[in-house]
Amino acid sequence: MQKISRQLRQRHQSIGFVPTMGALHEGHLSLVDRARRENRIVVVSIFVNPRQFGLREDLARYPRPFRKDLQLCEKKKVDFIFYPTLRQMYPEDFHTHVEVEDLSEVLCGKSRPGHFRGVATVVTKLFNIILPHRAYFGRKDAQQAVVIQRMVKDLNMAVSVKVMPTVREKDGLAMSSRNTHLKPQERKDAVVLSESLSLARKLITGGEKSAATIIDRMRNHIAKKPSAKTDYIAIVNGKTLEPVKKVCAGCLIALAVRIGKTRLIDNYIA
Ligand code: AMP
Repeated sequence: MQKISRQLRQRHQSIGFVPTMGALHEGHLSLVDRARRENRIVVVSIFVNPRQFGLREDLARYPRPFRKDLQLCEKKKVDFIFYPTLRQMYPEDFHTHVEVEDLSEVLCGKSRPGHFRGVATVVTKLFNIILPHRAYFGRKDAQQAVVIQRMVKDLNMAVSVKVMPTVREKDGLAMSSRNTHLKPQERKDAVVLSESLSLARKLITGGEKSAATIIDRMRNHIAKKPSAKTDYIAIVNGKTLEPVKKVCAGCLIALAVRIGKTRLIDNYIA
């Protein structure tokens, strides 16, 4: 892949890259569409990266519908799918990791220690293999986008990072490969994530500024669904991810909620 990418770059063909863990949905495809519009060549990687899963997390049951993914990529005229094996990415003597300090330890990093280290490491490897001019990430994983942007800046990586809006189901649920795990009743309950963000938006539009008040109201709304268990709700500075007391423009309102056994995230930028 690296050899191909080098040749493409020598021929002055721009490379747009969409990293994914597969089980592609409209959210992923919106990134592919954008990459298609802005680049001569589009590369999608499909790799379920074990190093970003904790020991008790859902690595084993993560969906891997490769044939369907392939068809979707073909339909979107993706030029290359990079689909490495585990051993190709992590040979036995693999020893190097990328750690983005502080930003990796808050929000999702608190309940998923090591997660962003795994993400930063695999994205660095993928950038070095695919040599993209532009890389496309979803706002749905807001903290991931902040961590990657920080890493690219800190380590002088020659990639332009683009962050695209969250694509949602009709009822507001953010699309996610993990939604396939939800049982019918859980799927209905899962709408509490986006509902609680709409509630926050309504409160803010109505003049509410107190982060604590907004978080309380969101927490109460989520608690109405028996299958939902809040992991965290936070209102933070959109760049530093530090908590704010008063909501301001550019603040990130982020939450993670367990619906049954499935942990879902969502966010909204004030
Ligand atoms: P994943 O396969 O879950 O690792 O996601 C791959 C990329 O797709 C990441 O940059 C995600 O942020 C992005 N993505 C996932 N779900 C959505 C969505 N609903 N809307 C937009 N982007 C998404």
